[in-house]
Amino acid sequence: MLYNSTRNKDIRLNASKAILKGLSDDGGLFVPESIPHIEKDMRTLAGMSYTELAYEIMHLFLDDFSEEELRTCISSAYGKNFDDPMIAPLSYACGSYYLELYHGPTIAFKDMALQILPHLLTTSAKKNGISKDIVILTATSGDTGKAAMAGFADVPHTKIMVFYPHGGVSDVQRLQMVTQKGGNVEAVSVDGNFDDCQTGVKQIFNDKAFRDEIGGKGYQFSSANSINIGRLIPQLVYYAYAWCSLFRNEKISDGEPVNICVPTGNFGNILAAYLAKKIGIPIDKLVCASNINMVLTDFFESGIYDRNREFHLTSSPSMDILISSNLERLIYFISGCDDKATSSFMQELADKGRYTITEQMKKELSDFAAGYASEEDTFREIKRVYDETGYVIDTHTAVASHVADKIRAKLSDHPMIIASTASPFKFAGSVVDAIRGRDKDMSRDGLSMIDELETLTDMPEPEAVKEIRHAEVKHDGHISISEMKEAVARFLD
Ligand SMILES: *Cc1c(COP(=O)(O)O)cnc(C)c1O
Repeated sequence: MLYNSTRNKDIRLNASKAILKGLSDDGGLFVPESIPHIEKDMRTLAGMSYTELAYEIMHLFLDDFSEEELRTCISSAYGKNFDDPMIAPLSYACGSYYLELYHGPTIAFKDMALQILPHLLTTSAKKNGISKDIVILTATSGDTGKAAMAGFADVPHTKIMVFYPHGGVSDVQRLQMVTQKGGNVEAVSVDGNFDDCQTGVKQIFNDKAFRDEIGGKGYQFSSANSINIGRLIPQLVYYAYAWCSLFRNEKISDGEPVNICVPTGNFGNILAAYLAKKIGIPIDKLVCASNINMVLTDFFESGIYDRNREFHLTSSPSMDILISSNLERLIYFISGCDDKATSSFMQELADKGRYTITEQMKKELSDFAAGYASEEDTFREIKRVYDETGYVIDTHTAVASHVADKIRAKLSDHPMIIASTASPFKFAGSVVDAIRGRDKDMSRDGLSMIDELETLTDMPEPEAVKEIRHAEVKHDGHISISEMKEAVARFLD
């Protein structure tokens, strides 16, 4: 199987080369030339463990990896570093199934992909005879940064540098990043929002002179952002696993579809659900849930993508995004895999911050539904779910939970799976305020709120939180947007 750029079908690479490259040189994202189909029936897949199922799905896409290589990557990633043997367990509350994607080392869903990506990358490098060290640059709105640092820390022949918006991440997220150990990791805060960080990273990747310069020093860039297919493909697995879990527990019949609601930022997680549907997992609607940065809700309603609007900092910071990079892949698919059209939409986005898709493309969006939650909706939803069932959800999950609850009546009468993307302990301040029914107060956020959440709900504090309480701050860099390239050069010297 080959992967081509969304902006130029003549740029074609096999999976390991596409993983190494991350982003195509023309700025496009890699997409499989054709979408494979699962080989075994769902009944057989339902009898498998998470790691067995991961192999069945991932080998369809990563077909230049040997069976042994891929199975080794999978077993290194999904084992004791998760605190639940199911890896991605389901919990039932208020009429929906919450797919808990936060049982990895950093208690958020980015672990699902970032625990395996370093193994896929180093295996890809070995396969391709790469002698240069791999440099990972990552822009983060909070969770990716720590999850990537944790995944790559002290992995030989890799270095990782993370940029996060100054003041744009939670206390716990910041502490997790600035205390990360490892001789090859660095985190820097940037005066700007997530989009500024992401644009800065993209510019560095696209700077050929700079690429040559670091190449001369024995380095080559790769990406750990959700644009890398090495992150996207592992994310299909838990949607298949969720269906299998419901089937095993006789909650659905053979072939019965489920609806899936995903709290969305960069559009990676929901795109994985879309691909899971395309390879044959029984899924009906994909519900795209946004916070008040609702650029995607408007897009699905009107066919117009328009980032020219006020940017809001919310209590679900990992979804505070106005340019959802992975949407480019969906645009490519719904345009009938038209690289020229995709390229010109992305040019319009870069020039004017806005584009309008065709009527034909709009029709291709019928797999999706969309909605958003205000800050008030989000807090009320945390309280509603807790008061009715005792189940505790974080702010991101609450956005999806609110949207799922509102949209349910308009969808088919099949089980609703809500992607639960962070442990409530990661956003304890907001969660406690919501459950107590008091106004949000940022000054109360932080570690003391974790204690309060523990007392209030009787839930034990996860290991990941215990670790950061007394850890030493190792990364205190703070720069302006224009200094990002310089910071990379310094890090590599
Ligand atoms: C990254 C993240 C999201 C958004 O996922 P995308 O793949 O970027 O759409 C949602 N919730 C949490 C907690 C996250 O860390």
